[in-house]
Amino acid sequence: MGEFELIRQYFAAAPCAQGGEGVALGIGDDCALLELAADQQLAVSTDTLVDGVHVPQGADPFLLAMRGLAVSVSDLAAMGATPLGFTLALTLPTADAAWLEAFAAGLERMAGQCGIRLVGGDTTRGPLSLTFTVFGRVPRGQALTRRGARVGNLLCVGGELGDAAGALPLVLGTLTADPAVADPLLARYWSPQPQLALGQALLGKATAALDISDGLLADCGHIAQASGVKLCIEQSRVPLSTALLALCGEAHARACALSGGDDYRLAYTLPAEAVEPLQAAGWPVHVVGRVEAGAGVDLVDEHGHCIQPPARGYQHFGSRGD
Ligand code: ADP
Ligand code: MG
Repeated sequence: MGEFELIRQYFAAAPCAQGGEGVALGIGDDCALLELAADQQLAVSTDTLVDGVHVPQGADPFLLAMRGLAVSVSDLAAMGATPLGFTLALTLPTADAAWLEAFAAGLERMAGQCGIRLVGGDTTRGPLSLTFTVFGRVPRGQALTRRGARVGNLLCVGGELGDAAGALPLVLGTLTADPAVADPLLARYWSPQPQLALGQALLGKATAALDISDGLLADCGHIAQASGVKLCIEQSRVPLSTALLALCGEAHARACALSGGDDYRLAYTLPAEAVEPLQAAGWPVHVVGRVEAGAGVDLVDEHGHCIQPPARGYQHFGSRGD
């Protein structure tokens, strides 16, 4: 199969590559053309996933595609952007039809879930790697950045944390568990759901936001630094899933939630008065701490006393920060 036949069959002909709102021209020309209204800005982000570095070697291609696209779209969610399109730069050792078919199916599934269209890419031969570039639109001047956290704001997260880090030994096959425990955790690793609707709901409300890719403590450090504030995280308020608790117990679950990675849930700061209306409207707003004057991130107990962050039980394989 030649390069052009491969592109046509698995990508250009895919339902998610057939254009849609905001896509004036998709795959097939030298560039794609995206539409942007005058009162919008373009949000752009790129992530590369290298086989054996960011994901285990020999991973299921369906899951690889799901995860790769989800991780990139999560950056759009973190800015409050609405997805427009994405490109895929794919480097493959061989053009294996079964692999490509499964990969394209995974891409289709996640693209559908996120409402994002494939608008172009590049296809080359070499060691397996995937680069996703995502494009989204955001109301001019309103994107959620890491910079606006203010003293007195509450620090919130968009759901339970630590599942993907906890799932890692399951992913690597060094641990097995009952499907009732393992399946939801594996799903959180392989197909994180970008919190797009939450990000958009936070526009004009959150003062800072990001998606958690390297662990709550590390990522909150980015908000603290960019905003020139200190974040205090109350350990006992960090939400943990029953599956994670069942898999590894409270101490390790907490370590995964604080210092693991790959959650791809949003962490954001809100003025205190914004919390209740958002919760009442059904948005996942879990208060885990507050913004104070100072610098860095403090982990505190329920009395506000600083405690030492738990040590990481193992080196996290899936962190994309490397
Ligand atoms: P060019 O030589 O102009 O860079 P290519 O021959 O690389 O174009 O690609 C032809 C068309 O197919 C382009 O529109 C490109 O965006 C698209 N394309 C190539 N590889 C992929 C891919 N893996 N996924 C989606 N579109 C792709
Ligand atoms: Mg090219």
